[in-house]
Amino acid sequence: MYDLIVVGGGPAGSMCARSAALKGLDVLLLEKEKFPRTKLCGGALSPRVTESLDFDISSIIHLELHHAIVYAPSGRKVVVNKEDAKGYLIKRNEFDHFLIQKAMEAGVTVLEGVKVQSIEQIRSGVRVLSHGDSFKSHLLVGADGVNSTIARAVGIRNKWPPDRVALCIAADIPLPPKEIARILSSDGTYENAAIEMYPWAVEHGYGWCFPKRDEISLGIGYKMKHQVLDLRTAWKKFVKKFETEKGIKLDLSFQSSYRVPLGRLDKRLSTRRTMLVGDAAGLVSPITGEGIHYAIRSGIIAGHVASEAVKDKNPPHVRMYEDRLKKEMNAEFSAANFVSNIAFKSEKKIELICELAENDLILQDQMIDLVLGTRSISKIRMDLTMRLLRHYPRKAFRLLR
Ligand SMILES: Cc1cc2nc3c(=O)[nH]c(=O)nc-3n(C[C@H](O)[C@H](O)[C@H](O)COP(=O)(O)OP(=O)(O)OC[C@H]3O[C@@H](n4cnc5c(N)ncnc54)[C@H](O)[C@@H]3O)c2cc1C
Repeated sequence: MYDLIVVGGGPAGSMCARSAALKGLDVLLLEKEKFPRTKLCGGALSPRVTESLDFDISSIIHLELHHAIVYAPSGRKVVVNKEDAKGYLIKRNEFDHFLIQKAMEAGVTVLEGVKVQSIEQIRSGVRVLSHGDSFKSHLLVGADGVNSTIARAVGIRNKWPPDRVALCIAADIPLPPKEIARILSSDGTYENAAIEMYPWAVEHGYGWCFPKRDEISLGIGYKMKHQVLDLRTAWKKFVKKFETEKGIKLDLSFQSSYRVPLGRLDKRLSTRRTMLVGDAAGLVSPITGEGIHYAIRSGIIAGHVASEAVKDKNPPHVRMYEDRLKKEMNAEFSAANFVSNIAFKSEKKIELICELAENDLILQDQMIDLVLGTRSISKIRMDLTMRLLRHYPRKAFRLLR
């Protein structure tokens, strides 16, 4: 019988398993795919990710991020440069594989190609069932992503309400480094390539282009809260305009659609022996779609809570997980929802934000802090509001109305 079974080997699962194993727990991680597996993702890491990890990831970083360009619906272009910013771009197949190896190094037993189907409560813990196999543990963590089987099995959630998810279509597009530098860098060097964001691409959302050394991640996504859109048509239009403006023909062989659970801290993320982490818990920024940082932090917190519960022989201690998550992330998610409800309400608001930021270096700094997660979103919200009210009171009123 294991102390802890973690279902799912994304960033949340591998870092949960590693942190529990480092505290002395006997941990089993079950993953349905085989590593390195592909995962649709922009691959942008905020500096907070590297601060949360207890090991170096420089060998798998494709680019340090210092430049961002936002194209407003009118075509207005806001260029934001921040030399001291430390955002990073990675490829998820490499990043997730690296993290799972770090879990194994800490003593975690990893079984790949095992898809968990259901669970059963037993007297001293939980039995986890896959096709033809079963595994027992005292505690269980659901790190199995947006369509979490564990959330359903323990009765926390059957499906996401429409206002909690964004729908995305994205593609990883192979390109030679020279071509990436040509389309995304102001001086033609790869080191100075920028991430680009296109709020015009889709209503209540945005498009993006994030460079890696040998490919770009191109995508669009929108919040389903407002209305159901024909995303396929918006995607085709977006790709066509991108190709025309950049003078390029894209290979779209690796494209697919995906749902992202948008963040708000739900009241219930644990049961007597189970905790949900990462996307399974819905921990993704509603402004930028950043989820890797929250996946890693929630995983580490759950790993620590699990080790305390096992050492005290007190399974209900896992309830502490919700309190700790709330303490760390509640203010952050409420600020993020406040900003995203303004920014994604209409094209007019996005246009106004870009107009204000175009010639205001301080607002630009705050925008890049928002995009890169350089500081906590609640602090940025406060600074942004003060700046708008002091310097542009009438426009601030139009924005906040
Ligand atoms: C298009 C797109 C772009 C994004 N861009 C960014 C970005 O640039 N930066 C950022 O920070 N975030 C981004 N995100 C969000 C980010 O990808 C997620 O928040 C993050 O992957 C969450 O990690 P996780 O470990 O919780 O879940 P996942 O990474 O989804 O991992 C879950 C794992 O569980 C496994 N699994 C699922 N079901 C089972 C089962 N029944 N049995 C066993 N294993 C199972 C899966 O195979 C998977 O490996 C993006 C998301 C999308 C869709």
